[in-house]
Amino acid sequence: MNTNIATKTKITVAKGDGIGPEIMQATLDIILAAGAQLDIEDVEIGEKVYEKGLSAGISQETWDSLRRTKVFLKAPITTPQGGGFKSLNVTVRKTLGMYANVRPCVSYHPFVSTKHPVMDVVIIRENEEDLYAGIEHQQTHEVTQCLKLISRPGTEKIIRYAFEYAKKYNRKKVTCFTKDNIMKLTDGLFHKVFDEIAPEYPEIEAEHWIIDIGAAKMADTPENFDVIVMPNLYGDVLSDVAAQITGSVGLAGSANIGQEISMFEAIHGSAPRRAGQNMANPSGLLLGAVMMLVHIGQGDIATKVHNAWLKTMEDGVHTYDIFREGVSKEKVGTKEFAQAVIERIGQEPTTLKKVTYEKSEPIAVKTSGKKADSRKLVGTDVFLYCEDRDANKLGDSLKACGNDDIELIMISNRGLTVYPNGQPETFCTDHWRCRFMAKDQKSEVSQDTIVALLDRVNKAGFDFIKSEGLYYFDEKPAFSLGQGQ
Ligand code: NAD
Repeated sequence: MNTNIATKTKITVAKGDGIGPEIMQATLDIILAAGAQLDIEDVEIGEKVYEKGLSAGISQETWDSLRRTKVFLKAPITTPQGGGFKSLNVTVRKTLGMYANVRPCVSYHPFVSTKHPVMDVVIIRENEEDLYAGIEHQQTHEVTQCLKLISRPGTEKIIRYAFEYAKKYNRKKVTCFTKDNIMKLTDGLFHKVFDEIAPEYPEIEAEHWIIDIGAAKMADTPENFDVIVMPNLYGDVLSDVAAQITGSVGLAGSANIGQEISMFEAIHGSAPRRAGQNMANPSGLLLGAVMMLVHIGQGDIATKVHNAWLKTMEDGVHTYDIFREGVSKEKVGTKEFAQAVIERIGQEPTTLKKVTYEKSEPIAVKTSGKKADSRKLVGTDVFLYCEDRDANKLGDSLKACGNDDIELIMISNRGLTVYPNGQPETFCTDHWRCRFMAKDQKSEVSQDTIVALLDRVNKAGFDFIKSEGLYYFDEKPAFSLGQGQ
């Protein structure tokens, strides 16, 4: 029996576009030279697939391969200009449930110039929900909306992943960034779940920052952070900031982790202007491949590759993007850089911190299935399109649509309460949120009551865009008040 074949892990590899094929070749040459046990399925994604008319840039054969191997090492692709093309990354991540994006952002002072010599931060970004659900509407001539969806299971998965990651890699602290002083329900849920899960990891310090000051602190003194977990949009922005301030975005790898299937890549794009010139730096993809090796249980190989790469950095063997006179020693191309790393397999850095990865199982997380015991409908927000900007006039006429079961409580415009007691200085758009509830503002109302209300609103000549149910969960109101209400 050939035992070598038996221990090989199946992976799917896409060489991508632009500089993709060159940096993928360099990456594979290095990890195979270090002894990675891989059974590679090559697939095509990106430009050529888009050109065949597949708008997501990915074919059925690639989906089949990913379901078979469950591990995807992916080079960057070129997204064609113009409409009609969907982002391959977003499609792959969401279709295959890759809920966690992990980006270690490390500075390599004094070998790569950086304003932050002591930086070693891991950004863990929720990858599937938040404003990236992509549910958007134009509702009136003046107002558009995008729904921000934050779910309990989605949040539990990412928060637990962040703590499990910290535990596995001996990190000391997990920081959560949200804006829950403003978004009390959505970001509030993210923060609440963070507070619920943190005590299960007493050995790890847990802290929460409001995102604005947190981001400022991270950009100013990143050495005070360790692992940072946050919702999708904040993570998208701040993971690029964090990678950039290490000195170069070109050095960061990224992992997209799912319950079943995971994807590993560089954070940069396909740099078409540098393609085919043996210039590109393969380090981002290589560090993505290091995360892949750890994920598939080949931590010993990941250790060898990462330390050889650190030693190459230290020895001043640099590609053009990080080469600096006086700091670097040798300017090399992609192939020569790969060769330099291969020559250093078995060596360790002396100035930079060496790494050690244990052989381990991938991080797996569970959700609690926790639900509220009770849910009670107590009213509705009816959204109206109305060109007349007189809030008092609108309120007074809309009041007539109420009855003993449900009455108009307030109207807001862009979240600010403008009825009753609107102020003349307030700017109003053509988009009004009109809240109807029982007189005591907490008694249950039926769906029939709401449907009948909408019928009266419609028959009275109001143009309603949508209605939103107002609920109590576990006897507590689960909707925001109008600002100033
Ligand atoms: P880019 O990251 O490709 O390039 C930005 C700059 O960084 C360029 O000046 C480039 O020369 C340099 N650069 C990037 N990677 C480098 C490397 N490994 N070595 C040396 N220099 C490097 O960003 P862009 O130009 O905005 O995008 C180009 C294409 O890549 C676009 O089609 C974009 O949609 C796509 N893209 C793909 C991914 C992905 O597949 N994950 C991510 C981002 C962008």
